[in-house]
Amino acid sequence: MMWINKMIAGLLPFMPKNLVWIFSKRYIAGKNIEDAIIISKKLNDEGMMVTIDLLGEFITKLHQAEDNKNQYLNIIETIQKAKIDGNYSLKPTMFGLLIDKDVCYENIREIVAKAASFNNFVRIDMEDSQCVDLEIDLFRKLKKEFPKNVGLVLQAYLKRTGSDIKNLIDIHSKDTPINYRLCKGIYVEPEKIAFKKYHEINNHFLEDLELMFQNGIYPGIATHDKALVEGAYELIEKYNVPKEKYEFQMLYGVTPQLRKSIVDANHRMRIYVPFGEQWFAYSTRRLKENPAMAKEIIKALFVRG
Ligand SMILES: Cc1cc2nc3c(=O)[nH]c(=O)nc-3n(C[C@H](O)[C@H](O)[C@H](O)COP(=O)(O)OP(=O)(O)OC[C@H]3O[C@@H](n4cnc5c(N)ncnc54)[C@H](O)[C@@H]3O)c2cc1C
Repeated sequence: MMWINKMIAGLLPFMPKNLVWIFSKRYIAGKNIEDAIIISKKLNDEGMMVTIDLLGEFITKLHQAEDNKNQYLNIIETIQKAKIDGNYSLKPTMFGLLIDKDVCYENIREIVAKAASFNNFVRIDMEDSQCVDLEIDLFRKLKKEFPKNVGLVLQAYLKRTGSDIKNLIDIHSKDTPINYRLCKGIYVEPEKIAFKKYHEINNHFLEDLELMFQNGIYPGIATHDKALVEGAYELIEKYNVPKEKYEFQMLYGVTPQLRKSIVDANHRMRIYVPFGEQWFAYSTRRLKENPAMAKEIIKALFVRG
C-alpha cells in the first residue's frame, strides 16, 4: 500500500485545485478568516474551544515574515472582536526561523504581546527536528517575558522529549505553569533520533504525559488515537487531575465521534482550526512529506463522521 500512498501524494500537486479541495475541505476551515470564524463559532456552540492557525511555513524571504506577522496581528484583532473562545497557534518557520532567528523572535514576540494584551495565548507549533532546539530557545525566551501567554508543542516520537521536559522545569512555577501540547509528531525523522514503532511512540507519549502530570505542567493532550485517550484517562484518574489542569486537542475534521465522546465525558476539548490562502501548498506538502497521510485523505472520501 505504501507505493500507492506515495504515488497519490506525488500526483497531488498536479491535480486541479478544485479536486484537491474535495479532499482537503474536511480538514481546513477555508481561505479566509471569516471561514475560520464560522467554523470556530460552531465548535464553541458544541462546547469546544479552538486554536486558530494561519496556514504557511518555511518562508524563503524575510519580507514574507513581516507579511505573516501582520496577518497574525489582524487575525488576533478579528478573532477577539468576534468573541471566539480560542487561542492561536503558529509555526516559527513562517516568521523566518531558518533565515534569521532574531528577526523571527521579534516577529513572534509582537504577536505574543498582542495576544497578551487580550489576556490570550499563543502556542508555538513544533516543526521538524532541525527546528527543535531553536523553537525551545524561542519558547524559553518568550515564557520569561509572557509567563501566561505562550506555550510549546512537544513530540512523543522524539527520543529527547523526556529530557526536554526535565530541562525546561526551571521556567515552570505553580503560578505560571508550563503549557505544552503533547502530540506524536508528524514529520518523517531518522531512526537515530525518533521512535518509529506504534507501540514505542504510544508508550513514550504516556510516559511524557505522566511526567507532565507529576510536575504540575498543563498538557494539551493532542491525539485521535483511542488507546492514548484511554491511557490519558487512566493517568488523569491516577493523579486526580482537576478538569481545569489539562485539555484534549484534536485537528479539525478528524475522528468527530471520539471527539464527541471526550466532550460528553466532560473533559475540555480544543480543536485546531487551520485556514488561509496557503491551503493548497500546505495540503500537498504535508502529503509529500508523509505519504501515509494519503491513506487518511482517501479514507475521508468514503467514510464520513
Ligand atoms: C491539535 C493538534 C496539533 C498538532 N500539532 C502538531 C505539531 O505542532 N507538530 C507536529 O509534529 N505534529 C502535530 N500534530 C500532529 C500529530 O503529531 C500526529 O501526527 C497526528 O495527530 C496523528 O497522530 P494521532 O495521535 O492522532 O495517532 P494516529 O495513530 O496517527 O491516529 C489515530 C487514528 O486517528 C485517525 N487520524 C489521525 N490523523 C488523521 C487525519 N489527518 N485524518 C483522518 N484521520 C486521522 C485515524 O483513524 C487513526 O487511525 C498535531 C495534532 C493535533 C491533534
